[in-house]
Amino acid sequence: MNERIAQMSRTVYVNGAYLPEEEAKVSIFDRGFLFADGVYEVTSVIGGRLLDFHGHARRLERSLGELDMASPVTMDELLGIHRELVARNAVTEGMVYLQITRGAPGDRDFVFPDPETTPSTLVLFTQSKGLIDNKAAETGMKVISIDDIRWGRRDIKTVQLLYPSMGKMMAKAAGADDAWMVDDGMVTEGTSNNAYIVKDGKIITRNLGSEILHGITRAAVLKFAREAQMEVEERPFTIEEAKAAEEAFITSASAFVMPVVSIDGVSLGDGAPGPVARRLREIYIDESLKSAL
Ligand code: PMP
Repeated sequence: MNERIAQMSRTVYVNGAYLPEEEAKVSIFDRGFLFADGVYEVTSVIGGRLLDFHGHARRLERSLGELDMASPVTMDELLGIHRELVARNAVTEGMVYLQITRGAPGDRDFVFPDPETTPSTLVLFTQSKGLIDNKAAETGMKVISIDDIRWGRRDIKTVQLLYPSMGKMMAKAAGADDAWMVDDGMVTEGTSNNAYIVKDGKIITRNLGSEILHGITRAAVLKFAREAQMEVEERPFTIEEAKAAEEAFITSASAFVMPVVSIDGVSLGDGAPGPVARRLREIYIDESLKSAL
């Protein structure tokens, strides 16, 4: 029975239509496919409700604005589509993935098409996955460091994810779970998450700028940490400083707060998830559920 459920086709959303995944199609001329000319968002679902939808919608609007790309629907309509997909696919825990590209002009040309004649492509789909009960939260993650060779506008959430994907493969080959990227001697972020260390009880994470993605979970976690009277410092740090830290952790919409227990093979503290990361994970889950939609 479970196998049958797992094999049942999902309903996905493409340009105004709810379709079985097998029937959903995007043109081979789509600029997302040919140029990675697109942006995306991932919103988590717990108990069938969306975590921080408005934070994700605001960042999406900013990404679109920075790339001079139009949204085919309003943010209110997007919320409706998210909810409809969660309901139709009976997602209790998991994610909603959204992607907007600059559409399919019917040919390949570096010049942006006229948005009047080439509407953007909008695709959404759900992924059911347990998020709260995650073994990695108990054991902690191992990370390695790699060079950050990505482009200079990492604050825009584009679908150019080849290097982060290669970073995950480098981590896997090294027997680790993820890679922290280092630019100019300073840690920027993980391949798909923001990076933090804890020193003298203080939470340290890179300040916002074009060097990192402005994580929605990062914003929420820092707010909750400050409300809980925890000290926060937003500044760059080196891998050496991280290796000598009491604790380290990452945040992302689907991982929430996840402890890091080793960096480039060096164990942090006693090699187990630290108290700050554990507490922040609990606070984040409790607090974000309060405003879930
Ligand atoms: N940095 C990068 C490079 C990411 O890909 C992500 C996840 N999309 C994050 C940080 C975390 O962002 P959020 O908390 O909004 O998921």
